[in-house]
Amino acid sequence: MTMIAEDNVTCASCGASVDVMMLLSTSSFGSMDLDTRPPGLARFTLSRQIDDCPHCGYRSRGLEALTGVDLPAAVRCPEYLTILADERFPQLARDFLAFRHLCQLGGHARDALWATLCAVWACDDEDLGAEARTLREEALGWLDRLHAEGQTFSGSHDHDALLTLDLARRTGHFDDVVERADTFVDRLGDGFEREIARFQRSLAQQRDTQTHTVEEAIEWAESPHPDEGA
Ligand SMILES: [Zn+2]
Repeated sequence: MTMIAEDNVTCASCGASVDVMMLLSTSSFGSMDLDTRPPGLARFTLSRQIDDCPHCGYRSRGLEALTGVDLPAAVRCPEYLTILADERFPQLARDFLAFRHLCQLGGHARDALWATLCAVWACDDEDLGAEARTLREEALGWLDRLHAEGQTFSGSHDHDALLTLDLARRTGHFDDVVERADTFVDRLGDGFEREIARFQRSLAQQRDTQTHTVEEAIEWAESPHPDEGA
């Protein structure tokens, strides 16, 4: 069950008092997608992950302050307004991409990657395959940037590597997935991460760009697959 409550926050950009809908709890029963998208009811709460100020157009979670950004100026700049008006993407994706632009200005690579993934899922939900693919390519770029800064997205380099495999597979970089997975599998012991990497390798060999879940990876690992390794 998803529980939502109304709250009143102060916009960090313009100081206006804004009513927002807060997500108190939700159910994520089931299996997560391989790109970390949550299962169950939680996957339908994307629109509750971003707020917009009706007075100044600021988009963020809870309209909170963002360090390193002159928000009142940034939300009026042409780049920000162009992102919000970009009709290639659904409105929800634009909201996340506008927040991502602000994160980029402030040097918040981790939040920028989070916003990119949310925008990807907003496009997936509208069956906008080409747009989602473009954004997955951009997510790969943000992951690289995050790692270059010595940070991780998930808190674990191994889990970030699994996310990279999924983003690369879903954007059709199959040879890259096989190569990365081989390196990764050699490095890991027996376990959950290794099985997911092998599953991604198998999917890449089949030129599969579809959504798959962690549960599918586990089922695959427990079943015979004699043709693996080609
Ligand atoms: Zn505002």
